[in-house]
Amino acid sequence: MRTPLIAGNWKMNGSAELLEAFGRLFADAQLPTPLEIVLHPPFPYLEAASRSLASTPIKLGAQTLNPLHSGAHTGEVSGRMLKEFGVSYVLIGHSERRQLYRERDEDVYDRLLAALSVGLQPILCVGETLEERDAGRTMEVVLRQVSRAMAPLEPQQRTQLAIAYEPVWAIGTGRTATPEQAQAVMAGIRDYQAGYNSELAQQLRLLYGGSMNASNAAELLAQPDIDGGLVGGASLKAEDFYAICQSA
Ligand code: PEP
Repeated sequence: MRTPLIAGNWKMNGSAELLEAFGRLFADAQLPTPLEIVLHPPFPYLEAASRSLASTPIKLGAQTLNPLHSGAHTGEVSGRMLKEFGVSYVLIGHSERRQLYRERDEDVYDRLLAALSVGLQPILCVGETLEERDAGRTMEVVLRQVSRAMAPLEPQQRTQLAIAYEPVWAIGTGRTATPEQAQAVMAGIRDYQAGYNSELAQQLRLLYGGSMNASNAAELLAQPDIDGGLVGGASLKAEDFYAICQSA
């Protein structure tokens, strides 16, 4: 019922050469259907990506956006600009943005609204730190992030986004949440949404992120509430990312 979504987040990595490798490999892709695939390269690669990936099923995603449309904000990029370059998806509230660039729940909400206002599909990232998990606060933290970002949204807007559950302790560490740990949190997110509207909760796509790779993807993606993956390190090799897409 929910189309699986596999998204690759290059962070501040990648190259024009890597884009071409993706273009070559995915042009002849034999992939499960239905499946949506998105690649989030750094901003300067977006235009080249739209050319290199033109004959593949891969859609374009950005890693963040500024909540304003334009103005005196040196170094920033707006959703309107991303749309102009064929971008469909945008990551919002990634833990690296929250931790390294001090994005608060209010900033996440502003970005979510800005993305929706120009027709970009947001992937809202949430997740607890190891300290919060060890203190038994995982669900409290995750649901606070989800509710602060989404509470003010209209029902129609709620259907446009996906949520990526990314335990901070699993991002880039090689330490993956077990399928059971990930499933438990994601079922909690869906239950929370069902309290608001059960039909919308069934449509909501939930992605797991945190050291997903070609070896562990199938088991994670087989969980009933895991509808896809947000993949960092393993999206930096076209073959590895392709293998994850094949597991979807
Ligand atoms: C990410 O960047 O969102 C991520 C999940 O990274 P990694 O797969 O490297 O843990």
